[in-house]
Amino acid sequence: MAVTDHVDLNGFMEGVKKRNPYQPEFVQAVQEVAEDIFEFMQDKEEYHSQQILRRIAEPDRVVSFRVCWEDDAGNIRVQRGWRVQNNNAIGPYKGGIRFHPSVTESVLKFLAFEQTFKNALTGLPMGGGKGGSNFNPKGKSVREIMRFCQSFMTELYRHIGADIDVPAGDIGVGGREIGFMFGQYKRITNNFTGVLTGKGLEWGGSLIRTEATGYGAVYFLENMLATKGENLEGKTAVISGSGNVATHAAEKIVQLGGKVLTLSDSGGFIHDPDGIDQEKIYWVKTHKTHRRGRIEEYVEAFPNATFHAGKTPWGVPCDVALPCATQNELLGEDAKTLVANGCKAVSEGANMPTDLDGVHTFKHAKILYAPGKASNAGGVAVSGLEMSQNSERRSWKEEELQQMLKDIMSGIHNSCIQYGNQGGGYIDYVKGANIAGFKKVADAMLAFGVV
Ligand code: GLU
Repeated sequence: MAVTDHVDLNGFMEGVKKRNPYQPEFVQAVQEVAEDIFEFMQDKEEYHSQQILRRIAEPDRVVSFRVCWEDDAGNIRVQRGWRVQNNNAIGPYKGGIRFHPSVTESVLKFLAFEQTFKNALTGLPMGGGKGGSNFNPKGKSVREIMRFCQSFMTELYRHIGADIDVPAGDIGVGGREIGFMFGQYKRITNNFTGVLTGKGLEWGGSLIRTEATGYGAVYFLENMLATKGENLEGKTAVISGSGNVATHAAEKIVQLGGKVLTLSDSGGFIHDPDGIDQEKIYWVKTHKTHRRGRIEEYVEAFPNATFHAGKTPWGVPCDVALPCATQNELLGEDAKTLVANGCKAVSEGANMPTDLDGVHTFKHAKILYAPGKASNAGGVAVSGLEMSQNSERRSWKEEELQQMLKDIMSGIHNSCIQYGNQGGGYIDYVKGANIAGFKKVADAMLAFGVV
């Protein structure tokens, strides 16, 4: 037998832990994938002997850099920036940039690893990457954010390019930040190119990019419910988060006849038994995104609602749940509560919001459970469509893009069924997504030989 440390799952994971000390999020993401891939590889010696999973779990490179900027009071501030280029076997590295104090190398490595599978699942030619900084945009002035974005790009520009690596937004990085970064990239390189996605409509952005992650997560949910002959009409939904993904997921649930009961932020969650309708969602969007307010102020505007400080919404009984905030926001106990309360389906809008315990609970209960790499792929999918439009130097119509997004989400759902159908009416979407994503990347890597 070839010299290999992945003869079995435990041995493989021991190696991953040893090589990545103090990187729990990265180890968790690899573990979740490895559990399924080891089973899949049992009779596929080539993947073993070519060490494919070992290679995907070792980023092509991690670029770490200093980001220096001056605050409004004239103080010099120093942050750390990163770009993790995980794998470009099937296309240029692609993935967002996150600005949040919780950002570490471990978090970005897990996100870049997940992104590799997610992007493969979309069917578009995109590799996996992720970047960001521990910069906290909260409480910063617009000028401070601009100076930070410019400084960040002053280093990042060396590592990216329309055919090399195409970043986008993520937590803490929206249209405004993409604008500041694109402006700086163009200033430095004198090159107007599709080097970032999530751009403004006037300068190369795509329609429905903003809505795509949240809408896509609900389209995926609809696809899952349809396998049981059900739909969202009259269903109650519990959603966490109140940013771009959560508010657009809420909007689509309401459009499809569901009732949204909760939204949240890092301070706690609000529960509105009357349902968070389109008008209230609009209030949340304005309040959170434009005014940078707190979700707890919702109860002042809509007094029938209650605010639950420091809590997550998973205890509120519901038919469907959409974790749309951040990683590890839904723990094993929360998963048990959801299942006990009769929750039928979970569609992840965030990346790895459910911890390993929770994943095992959902799988064991055999409920409809979609991991983020499948259900939240709508955002990066429309980013891929933005890249195509930039290459063609044209803009597609909204109806065309809506249809393409729906088709891509159904395509991902079909891939999950292809590799995750366990018989007896149960589809293991985690397994399906992991295997379908892995196979595409792995087969490309086999074609390239040992590089
Ligand atoms: N940050 C988003 C994600 O997690 C979008 C990435 C992109 O559009 O490149 O998939």
